[in-house]
Amino acid sequence: VSRLCLQFQRLFVVLKLSMERQAVQRAKEAFLSGRTRPLEFRLQQLHALQRMITEKEAEISTALKQDINRVSGDWLALEKLAVWAAPRPVERNLLTISDEVYIQPEPLGLVLIIGAWNYPWAVTLQPLVGAIAAGNAAVVKPSELSEHSSLLLRALLPRYLDKDLYPVVTGGVSETQELLRLRFDHVFYTGSSTVGKLVMAAAARHLTPVTLELGGKSPCYIDKDCDIRIACRRITWGKFVNCGQTCIAPDFILCEPCIQGREFYGADPKCSPDYGRIINQHHFSRVMGLMEGYTPVVGGQSDASQRYIAPTVLKDVPPHSRLMQEEIFGPLLPIVTVSDMDDAIRFVNEREKPLALYIFCSDKKETSSGGVTVNDVMMHYTLSSLPFGGVGESGMGHYHGKHTFDQLSHQRACLVRSLWRGLSIIFASLNIYFHFQLE
Ligand code: NAD
Repeated sequence: VSRLCLQFQRLFVVLKLSMERQAVQRAKEAFLSGRTRPLEFRLQQLHALQRMITEKEAEISTALKQDINRVSGDWLALEKLAVWAAPRPVERNLLTISDEVYIQPEPLGLVLIIGAWNYPWAVTLQPLVGAIAAGNAAVVKPSELSEHSSLLLRALLPRYLDKDLYPVVTGGVSETQELLRLRFDHVFYTGSSTVGKLVMAAAARHLTPVTLELGGKSPCYIDKDCDIRIACRRITWGKFVNCGQTCIAPDFILCEPCIQGREFYGADPKCSPDYGRIINQHHFSRVMGLMEGYTPVVGGQSDASQRYIAPTVLKDVPPHSRLMQEEIFGPLLPIVTVSDMDDAIRFVNEREKPLALYIFCSDKKETSSGGVTVNDVMMHYTLSSLPFGGVGESGMGHYHGKHTFDQLSHQRACLVRSLWRGLSIIFASLNIYFHFQLE
């Protein structure tokens, strides 16, 4: 019986992989049919996606509740697409003075969007909006860990969007690896830096460009002269929303010892409907393991049966402890003391470049990070006018609003020569004349 089960399982995997390949092939052919080119088609698909989110809000919220979080779209494209997609005339020189010279954003082709589990709708739909707006086909591979959302996305998308152009492939590591063997025109990946390197290596085999939206340890420096009450309130929200499982959550605090000595108060959030849970048992054990050996100044309580960990603050955390080596991605907030602001800057600059940096202080100094918010946390993410993305170990490329459209477009250099040669001969002669004059 067990041999039969094993054979059945193998057959299932083979069938699934072959369906996956067929879906990719169909998306490729649908793109080549040219139907994504007209802006009316793209706008119609974007409206349908927006309608899906409105009409299915209740189902999406239930799936999110079962997984963890909220949904968001990036609908600026609906308003601005005509402007973004228009040719942009550029400067001409004397030799091309009578020609048309412009940059034309063009679809790249087939985009693979691979998502993380912590904001399962945002990290798949936001790039998808940009991919559709830019006229691409896209294969969406949501995370297997946010299973309810992934299955719902797979069920809903074909009901609202073109069935061939935007397939959803579900599954985990092996399904993603299988996809990465195929040739795409762009890979848009959101997830950990470790897997990001594997994705980039796989894409390099086809010379496929990548956008890597990764994570890391985003520091938060609090200066002793800032309004500590406001700083604490804002940091508490940013750190503990979604139970600390946010890529741009402040990962740890850097401050002088006098601030660390302040008293912290914490209510019991276990009963709050707004306080989340850790995604699965593996991550629950991982986060609990990070806390070992510390006596929390706030929180520390946990309940494995619910995968609940209270918002927790840990003092006097040594800079070289395990807690300070890996992204926490959970509701633990370590405080590392520094002697002054310059010491804090040294601390940040000696480590990998983070996705975000938070500074509660009026003085701006030299550091590097994907984004920065001063006197608050995470707010730079909310503006689609700002490019969102990492630098160094926290990623490459950026998106949101027009930045997603640009990221998923090819900026084609176009020169349309005038057929009347007289003018260009005159200007060519002038050009040569001025050239020699200058020599
Ligand atoms: P992950 O890297 O484990 O998984 C992300 C995706 O990659 C999933 O779809 C998964 O199926 C796939 N995957 C996992 N292992 C793979 C492998 N060996 N080969 C091929 N594919 C593989 O990340 P996660 O745990 O889902 O997400 C958490 C991480 O994502 C954190 O580091 C967080 O900071 C980061 N994140 C970043 C952003 C951002 O916008 N920068 C947003 C959300 C999450």
